[in-house]
Amino acid sequence: MSDFHYAVDGDGVATITWDIPNKSMNVLSLAGLQELSDHIDTALADASVKGVIITSGKKDFAGGMDLNIIARMKEEAGDNPAKGVFEGVMAMHGVLRKIERAGMDPKTLKGGKPIVAALPGTALGIGLELPLACHRIIAADNPKAKIGLPEIMVGIFPGAGGTTRVVRKLGVMMAAPVILEGKLNDPKTAQSIGLIDEVVAPDQLLARAKEWVLSAKPAELPKPWDQKGYKLPGGAPYTPQGFQMFLGASAMVHGKTWGAFPAAKALLSAVYEGALVPFDTALKIEARWFTHVLMNPSSGAMIRSLFINKEALEKGANRPKVPDETVKKVGILGAGMMGAGIAYVSAMAGIEVVLIDAAQEAAERGKGYSQGLLERAVKRGKSTAEKMAEVLGRITPTTDYAALEGCDLIVEAVFEDPKVKAGVTAQAEAVIPETAIFATNTSTLPISELAKASKRPEQFIGIHFFSPVDKMLLVEIIKGKATGDRAVAKALDYVRQIRKTPIVVNDERFFYANRCIIPYINEGMRMVGEGTEPALVENAARLLGMPLGPLQLVDETSLDLGKKIAVATRAAMGNAYPDGAVDEIIFGMVDEGRLGKKANAGFYAYDANGKRQGLWEGLSDRFPPAETQPELTEVQHRLILAQVLEAVRALEAGVLEDIREGDVGAILGWGFMPWSGGPFGWLDIMGAAKVVEICDRLSAKHGPRFEAPKLLRDMAAKGETFYGGTARKAA
Ligand code: NAD
Repeated sequence: MSDFHYAVDGDGVATITWDIPNKSMNVLSLAGLQELSDHIDTALADASVKGVIITSGKKDFAGGMDLNIIARMKEEAGDNPAKGVFEGVMAMHGVLRKIERAGMDPKTLKGGKPIVAALPGTALGIGLELPLACHRIIAADNPKAKIGLPEIMVGIFPGAGGTTRVVRKLGVMMAAPVILEGKLNDPKTAQSIGLIDEVVAPDQLLARAKEWVLSAKPAELPKPWDQKGYKLPGGAPYTPQGFQMFLGASAMVHGKTWGAFPAAKALLSAVYEGALVPFDTALKIEARWFTHVLMNPSSGAMIRSLFINKEALEKGANRPKVPDETVKKVGILGAGMMGAGIAYVSAMAGIEVVLIDAAQEAAERGKGYSQGLLERAVKRGKSTAEKMAEVLGRITPTTDYAALEGCDLIVEAVFEDPKVKAGVTAQAEAVIPETAIFATNTSTLPISELAKASKRPEQFIGIHFFSPVDKMLLVEIIKGKATGDRAVAKALDYVRQIRKTPIVVNDERFFYANRCIIPYINEGMRMVGEGTEPALVENAARLLGMPLGPLQLVDETSLDLGKKIAVATRAAMGNAYPDGAVDEIIFGMVDEGRLGKKANAGFYAYDANGKRQGLWEGLSDRFPPAETQPELTEVQHRLILAQVLEAVRALEAGVLEDIREGDVGAILGWGFMPWSGGPFGWLDIMGAAKVVEICDRLSAKHGPRFEAPKLLRDMAAKGETFYGGTARKAA
């Protein structure tokens, strides 16, 4: 069975059709690349062939390289992996360059055969790098199609010539969003920025491609960068404009990544160095930087968590084997901040929504949140008035529980108070079908306790959203002691419908995400209390690739919430409560009214419009900095281990059942150092033995919260890794 088919019509136009058997989307494998190369050779050698169309037999063109192959490339490259990877990448350049030169005489650039890419739909990664090597790119006018190079999102960069070609085609400025941010465009937008050449009606695609092949003039074929006098649009590095642009780009990349993401820096280096030399040398430079990125364990870890495992979880890797539980009508109890957001994402997914609050006005306000988001989307051209009316039409705001009749799922988001929650549980269960699943969005209360208010605890579950609901990608599903398989399946099917990523965890204090993030915030505040410069703490976190330092994070989530959680945790834990030193800091700030962003005053200062300024000047009076400041690495280790050790304990305690969920959940839930692939990814990169050593040092100095969990110590002794598999079984 082959991935590409070759046919020549009566007019001498060869069509190479990419159509991998038994797959809905084309992805490039090494065998596929060889087939493509052979077909190109055939077409170039056959005098009766006038030109070539490369297209797809599917509704889309291609989704990219098979990322599993990239992840394995290094392992399969033998004793000298860097050499093997580099040679593999250069072989790919060879095939694409053959397409680009299409048999031209290298000196006169004459005698080439026109090769056109005809894209019926989505073209991503190598699925766009291949067309970029062709002489023309024509796409079907399919607004759902996505065209772009998203490699950077999974810790690599376009390494099959995409970087070099897009920069030479568009100039650095216009190329930046495409290669550096991985921005995807629909065909019309892709054409408007010059990424592709032409957009035609879908039923005209192949006819137009053939017409172009038969009418293409020899002068249309050579790429500008292969012609004499070519100049990089917008200026090469050593021109006045180029200088400013590269300076700006470098600052922008560093501002965004803080140097924590190897791929962004490597990409920029490939662009800069490549812009100084002829095209073929630039490809070689791109290949070297690409190899450099693949050799860094970060790329494999990111691909694993952000692509392979994220997708596996979304497709139901841990879904119990029970029949489909797609949600048709959801009842949302409480139309506050969370309820309103949950109503929005549900209605957007086509689910009928009943939005209940204690007062009609509050319920209406909750629906108003959706209206606000949709109006903004219409204004920005992202949605239409009809779509808005359709989505809003699905949301019924009411105080009447009778409206919950026929709901197959309830999501409760009332006040964080067990009595209030028990009340609404009983009220809803009096109306909903016996088969309905009841979910609570509590962030702190044990699911198994709340389930006691339910007549059907096996149908009771936690579905924990993060705020803001419409933006956050993760949903944490929590099984109570009595929760049954159907409830889990319902929750997973619902999360799939609203297009978020689920993790399924067991019921212990703070579940998984909050369990890990609270110690991070606390460690940051504790260090400030000890006299560490707040700026050192915040910058140490950003340099690790955390999206927010712990002080900014607590400002965002509010210090009074922190106080509430501290009081409740202390009450639950009694003498075992470890965070007394932190409480003094939080409680003192709260007493002064410095509640964080919402009060325009917290660890940071804010202007009258709520815009964050620098760290609050009064911090140094309140927490006088110590004369000797700790090393950056020590601050960083404390911030990382506060989270990572908690993740390991969650695994040991059975809260986490699958390290993939621990890693994906950490990155999507609270932005844990994405370059590391997650807490378990980080542990594997570091090695358990090294981490145990750091734990021993930190626990001797700072206390038992840094003691290495037994699981880690055992792994260190046996030289095991998490993704090696044994630890997962042991846990
Ligand atoms: P909120 O105060 O904004 O909203 C709660 C809503 O519930 C209010 O509109 C209130 O009028 C309504 N309500 C109270 N009692 C009711 C009753 N008996 N019947 C109907 N409606 C009633 O709170 P929120 O921030 O949306 O939080 C709601 C739940 O979500 C809490 O359990 C909270 O722990 C959880 N949660 C919050 C966040 C967050 O970041 N805010 C994140 C995850 C989970």
